[in-house]
Amino acid sequence: MIREIRAIGDSLRIIIPENVPGVDQPNIGVVVSEDQTVFIDCGNSPNYLRSVLAELDSTLPGPISYIIYTHHHWDHVFGASALSAPVVAHERCYQNLTPLASAKIDRSFWEKEIRRHPLFEQSHRAKMSVMDNWEDFRIVLPTITFQKRMELRLRSCTLELIHVEAPHSDDSTLVRLIEQGVLFLGDAIYHPPVYAQEHRPLSFRKMLATLPYKEVNLFVPGHGEPMNRDDFRERMKIKFRL
Ligand SMILES: [Zn+2]
Repeated sequence: MIREIRAIGDSLRIIIPENVPGVDQPNIGVVVSEDQTVFIDCGNSPNYLRSVLAELDSTLPGPISYIIYTHHHWDHVFGASALSAPVVAHERCYQNLTPLASAKIDRSFWEKEIRRHPLFEQSHRAKMSVMDNWEDFRIVLPTITFQKRMELRLRSCTLELIHVEAPHSDDSTLVRLIEQGVLFLGDAIYHPPVYAQEHRPLSFRKMLATLPYKEVNLFVPGHGEPMNRDDFRERMKIKFRL
């Protein structure tokens, strides 16, 4: 369920979900630039994304031009099949999603996965709980990929996609709205999921040191409230004992 659609100037809406325990539902960014709309992440199910589109419908200037995935985790990606637009993401995001894209995914698929990898149980049960119908569901693979950095130029807004070495996932991508001074962080500031922890001996301190603080006024985490620069710095200091 949507808690709030927050407008940041004319060109950005942040879709903030209700906080429901046990349901991973990330923030979604909707960038509107004259005749183009770009989604930053897609939410955890096509149904949720359809409810977002229904709320935004009359305010969008036209079809969605691009979707950007901040990383490959299901709660950011599974909503994409409600849209038909090219997906831009880091090349490892493509690699991470590819095995899943060719599978027939339904309830029995996840039940089988739980038997094979019991550590994933909580995550797979969450997927099953938010999806009302697997029949039309598909994984939408990125069709435009990048390695370190790329720019997406819209008429009144430039999006800079920056790959960061984040402990959370190897494909973590930040999205900066250059003119607006907004940075979407995806899940880069969170610890990795339990089942992936041993693979990520990377440092938050190092990653945080690379952020473009001076150019950013608003930091939008994958989950939770957007923060101004001072609040963000303070939060990171406490969280990571910097
Ligand atoms: Zn994640």
